Amino acid sequence: MFAVVRQFFRLRAGSYGNCSVRLQAGSCASLVGACLQANIRRACLAALLLPLGLSSAYAQSADPVSVSDDVAAQFALVAADPRVQTTLEQIAAAEPETLAEQVRITEIPAPPFGEQRRAEYFVQQMRQRGLPDAFIDAEGNAVGLLRGTGDGPLFVIAAHLDTVFPLETDVSVELRDGRYYAPGISDDGRGLTALLTLIEAITSSGIRTVGDILFVGNVGEEGPGDLRGIKAIFRDYPDIDGFVSIDGSGLTRMTTGGTGSRRFAVEFTGPGGHSFSAFGMVSAIHAMGRAITRIGDLQVPQTPRTTFTVGTVTGGTSVNSIAADAMFELDMRSNDAAELARLEARVREVTAQAVAEENARWDNNGEITVNFRLIGDRPTGSTAPEHPLVQVAALAFEAVDSPLEALRTSSTDSNIPMSLGVPAITIGGGGSSGGEHAPEEWYEPTDSHKGPQLAFLLTLGLVGIEGLSAPQL
Ligand SMILES: [Zn+2]
Repeated sequence: MFAVVRQFFRLRAGSYGNCSVRLQAGSCASLVGACLQANIRRACLAALLLPLGLSSAYAQSADPVSVSDDVAAQFALVAADPRVQTTLEQIAAAEPETLAEQVRITEIPAPPFGEQRRAEYFVQQMRQRGLPDAFIDAEGNAVGLLRGTGDGPLFVIAAHLDTVFPLETDVSVELRDGRYYAPGISDDGRGLTALLTLIEAITSSGIRTVGDILFVGNVGEEGPGDLRGIKAIFRDYPDIDGFVSIDGSGLTRMTTGGTGSRRFAVEFTGPGGHSFSAFGMVSAIHAMGRAITRIGDLQVPQTPRTTFTVGTVTGGTSVNSIAADAMFELDMRSNDAAELARLEARVREVTAQAVAEENARWDNNGEITVNFRLIGDRPTGSTAPEHPLVQVAALAFEAVDSPLEALRTSSTDSNIPMSLGVPAITIGGGGSSGGEHAPEEWYEPTDSHKGPQLAFLLTLGLVGIEGLSAPQL
């Protein structure tokens, strides 16, 4: 393997003459050895990418991920392949068309459990871009498989079709002062578009991959969807070796941790009665109030970050009725599965105490019962920063000159593979944005072509190129 690397670096260094720019005097002669040292490896990569106008700023930034020589050597082979370099240029040139596609996709409403129209459009785009067998699965995901040489890993790269906005929301896109305004334009209009550009880039590059790639426009990422799209993918394809989600904009973050959540509708039921003539009877709303007070007083650790909130309350019949029913919706989250389980146990305990107290307060004149109905379940998980998937991603960030600021933990589609022990990360699709989940969401396409470029390098780095590089999954 290193023999190939050696020959290759000599060739590139000679043909571009970038050594003197990027490396200190005298180091060109020992480029081969130098490339196997982490700090200088960056300079080598920069030398390879300079012809594309890309360079490495990574060397100056703190290093959240350390990359092994082996992974770096394989990635360098991919990054320097002439077909890859040509395709990277094409991705940059095609960015205006990518943005036009982002507008078209955003203007198709896709509320939770209402993604079908957007899925149909998306699958048609997948077919046109080189995946003729793309289809919509039983859950509603748009799915397209690109087969590799047959003995490689199965890699999944996805973006989510759904938005948080109800069907009646105005989703028309407005361009003002260089910014695109529309609900969902970034989350996940950008990820979906980057995915389509990626599909076209790979299928038109003439490159045969070693691993298989499953491209997915998935349903159900946002709140009520409860990750149902990606849960279905991992049920249908139990042998997935790695997963990347492109979610929203930006190119300085990589999510390697999955915040878990448990959400419940907590339902209180009792006999109910007239507020005056039946006075002295237990009340579902009074019991709920006692429970919320107790929950509000619970203590949770700051690290691992653990949170709770009662988000909505409903119930009762009228102002002059003792309530027969009441309900609150509760959201609990933690970066740690054990803390989340501990919080849930405490909530159940204090809620039971509250109900007992209400029943005792009125000498058991009627009985309040409580039911916890699960309405959301996102498992916690994480991907080790040492995993080759994370290493290849760090190299891809570096290659498009977008310094990786930190590894993050949040709640994304990657929670599902992480919880199953499958390596997974979530990245952005390039450009910048704000106001996510609000009607004034905006997207600004500064250097936005780097999003699909990064996804392209990352994907090829992970699945390997026939006759050139080894898969890293
Ligand atoms: Zn999203």
